[in-house]
Amino acid sequence: MNIILLGPPGAGKGTQAQRLVVQRAMVQLSTGDMLRAAVKAGTPVGLKAKAVMDAGELVSDEIVSGIIGEALDQLPPETGVIFDGYPRTAAQAESLDALLAARGRHLDHVVELEVDEDALVDRITGRFTCASCGEGYHDRYKRPSVEGVCDRCGGTEFKRRPDDNEETVRTRMAEYRAKTAPILPIYEARGIVSRVDGMADIDGVSEAIESVLEHQV
Ligand code: ADP
Ligand code: ADP
Ligand code: ZN
Repeated sequence: MNIILLGPPGAGKGTQAQRLVVQRAMVQLSTGDMLRAAVKAGTPVGLKAKAVMDAGELVSDEIVSGIIGEALDQLPPETGVIFDGYPRTAAQAESLDALLAARGRHLDHVVELEVDEDALVDRITGRFTCASCGEGYHDRYKRPSVEGVCDRCGGTEFKRRPDDNEETVRTRMAEYRAKTAPILPIYEARGIVSRVDGMADIDGVSEAIESVLEHQV
């Protein structure tokens, strides 16, 4: 099964993808995570992407589709994939079709997480992750069960993203509205879009996604 989690920054895509990885043994391909790893490693892609990401703008279609293609090549064909944060433009959606077809894969579902814009800034400015395993947390909505200790790996160091500030979030939301939301009709025409209420609590959203995936078309 290959699915796209679509939604504005802070909608809960990463949180839900991490759950699907555990529950369904799928693989999460997050272009944001892969780009941050490239920035950290100082690769040529990372060097190009850094300033664009800090500004909250979109990295070029060629770069992100390139890293998705490389990531798909590392996976056994039967592994299910969750695309998290990709595609974000019409050109990327077109590339994804070609990348999947070339590997004998096809898209089963596009799950759109619907969230009020007011909630997004709140979610993003409270977001932090475990520095060792990447588990996502929130200052108010998802604290580690033992203060200062990661639930998943026991790590004690956490980090925040430089682009998770209110000003950059506004730019990222504008990019979403202008370039990403318009790709939904492409998938609607194929009858594979399901809308999920992203304002529910994390468990509620997971259940809604599960019920979409169980009702296989
Ligand atoms: P995205 O990957 O779409 O940018 P995240 O999954 O990183 O979003 O979620 C953004 C922040 O909101 C994180 O701090 C996460 O813990 C929190 N969060 C995710 N889903 C919910 C939810 N349903 N209710 C409340 N907070 C949530
Ligand atoms: P969020 O889910 O909070 O929007 P991501 O981690 O998905 O954040 O993305 C962080 C940044 O990485 C984006 O603001 C953008 O600069 C870059 N990026 C990630 N995915 C893509 C993509 N598919 N196309 C272009 N830029 C991307
Ligand atoms: Zn951890």
